[in-house]
Amino acid sequence: MARRRQIYEGKAKILFEGPEPGTVVQYFKDDATAFNNQKKGTITGKGVINNRISEYLMIKLGAIGVPTHFVRRLNMREQLVREVEIIPVEVVVRNVVAGSMAKRFGMEEGTELPRSIVEFCYKSDDLDDPLITEEHITAFGWATPQELDEIVATTLRINDFLCGLFLGVGLKLIDFKLEYGRLWENEQLRIVLADEISPDSCRLWDVKTNEKLDKDRFRRDLGGVEEAYQEVARRLGILPESGPRDMPGPDTMQ
Ligand code: UDP
Repeated sequence: MARRRQIYEGKAKILFEGPEPGTVVQYFKDDATAFNNQKKGTITGKGVINNRISEYLMIKLGAIGVPTHFVRRLNMREQLVREVEIIPVEVVVRNVVAGSMAKRFGMEEGTELPRSIVEFCYKSDDLDDPLITEEHITAFGWATPQELDEIVATTLRINDFLCGLFLGVGLKLIDFKLEYGRLWENEQLRIVLADEISPDSCRLWDVKTNEKLDKDRFRRDLGGVEEAYQEVARRLGILPESGPRDMPGPDTMQ
C-alpha cells in the first residue's frame, strides 16, 4: 500500500489521511513529553497500549450514547477516526486534587474535591495551555454557548461513567483531559469526543495503595512507567498474555 499523506505530527500521535474522505488514521507513538515539551522520552510499548485503551474506552462510551470520532482499530498502533474540526480547548475534569491544581491552590495532592470540577485550557503550546473560562471560549468564538453546554454535559456523563468503570478494576480516576471536535452529520454540525483517553491523559491511582498508574510515573521519574501502562491495560482485560508485542504484519489481535 502506498504510504499515506501525513496531516499532522503531535507529541504522542501522528495523523495520516484516511482511506476515505472524512477519515483520518491516528498513529500512536511511544514518545512521551511533559512540562510542555521540556521533558522528552520514550515509553516502550506505550503507543500499542494507548491505542488499545483508547479504543476500548471510546467503544464503551459510544455504547452509552456518547458520540465519538472513533471508527475502528486498524492494527497495533493505528486507529481509524472521523475527521473533525478540533475545538482548541482542553476540557479537564478533576475528582481529586493533583498536578497543576495542587500547585495553583497550594492544596495537598490526594485531597477529595467536594464535587467534580470542570476546567478549560486554551490549546496552545506556545502559551503553555493557559487556564481559561467559558467566557473566553464563547467570546473568542471557539465554541458557541450551546456547544459549550453540550460539551460540559457530555463531559460530566463521561466522568461518571469512567469513574465507575475504573473503580470496577481497582483504579481511582483522579483527573483527566478530553478534547472535542465538530463534524457534519445529516446536514447538522455535531460535537463529538475526539483525541484519546489513556494513561497519558488520565491520572489513575490504585484504590488500595494510591500507587500512580499513569504518566506521572514518567513526569516525576517514579520508575516502572511501562509496567504502569501495562497494568492499566491488564486490569481492563485488554492486554494479551504475551504483553504489548509490537510485531509488524497483519497481526490485528481482535
Ligand atoms: N492533561 C493532558 N494534557 C495536557 C495537560 C493535562 O492530558 O496538556 C491531563 C493530565 O494527564 C491530567 C489532567 O489533564 O490527567 C490534569 O492535568 P494538570 O492540569 O494537573 O496538568 P499536569 O500536572 O499534567 O501538567
